[in-house]
Amino acid sequence: MKIYVVGLGPGGADQLTPKAASVLQGCDIITGYTVYIELIKDMFPGKTLLSTAMTKEVERCEIAIEKALQGNIVAMVSSGDAGIYGMAGIIFETAQNYPEIEIEVVPGITAASSGAAVIGAPLTHDFAVISLSDLLTPWEKIESRLAATAQADFVICLYNPSSKKRKDYLEKACDIILRYQSAELPAGIVRNIGRIGEEYRLMTLGELRNTRVDMFTTVFIGNSQTKIINNKMVTPRGYRY
Ligand code: SAH
Repeated sequence: MKIYVVGLGPGGADQLTPKAASVLQGCDIITGYTVYIELIKDMFPGKTLLSTAMTKEVERCEIAIEKALQGNIVAMVSSGDAGIYGMAGIIFETAQNYPEIEIEVVPGITAASSGAAVIGAPLTHDFAVISLSDLLTPWEKIESRLAATAQADFVICLYNPSSKKRKDYLEKACDIILRYQSAELPAGIVRNIGRIGEEYRLMTLGELRNTRVDMFTTVFIGNSQTKIINNKMVTPRGYRY
């Protein structure tokens, strides 16, 4: 009895790891959020596909457990890396009373990596990844993490920077970072990484504060050393050249 939790990478087939592809090829059932199932369904014909809405994570796990107990090899898919704001944790939690089910996490390329590659090399030094979604995390905690990392001069990568209900969260986040960092810090946004319509834009932290982004965007804010070199965002590691 086995459940794989598989990271699909940012979108395209060329950024799906060979290991993830072989697991999906070998499983009986693929389950996941509708959008991700759509991304891969043509690549794996003949598989039973079970898609659920975005907010039905626990239900999705229960279905996966039920199918695994019936003897199916089940793959639960997440975008990027399944262990980074993905389904890996909740499957371990919901399946804890079924030790007979083996759970294996198959890593994928997370948006921080794939987005950094599009925008240049912003993450070559210490960095923090922070999600601005307060669905499962109190906003006060997000604020204190933003303040602590900005104060410590980390490069910051923001996931879930906006949604319909949270239009001003990026602005609020920038205001907190601006208490500790200069408005001139390089920043960048990358949208639809690895998908049709991939695009990026570089700006300053001050400009980012007044920029509207959507949920298909990953945001990068440099540290005090980060620079723009030929329209790419680069954080020097410290090498002399
Ligand atoms: N498990 C995923 C993250 C899920 S949280 C991963 O490891 O990448 C969802 C957030 O991730 C989005 O709001 C966005 O900030 C970021 N993201 C995921 N895929 C993306 C893509 N293809 N392009 C841009 N941002 C993406």
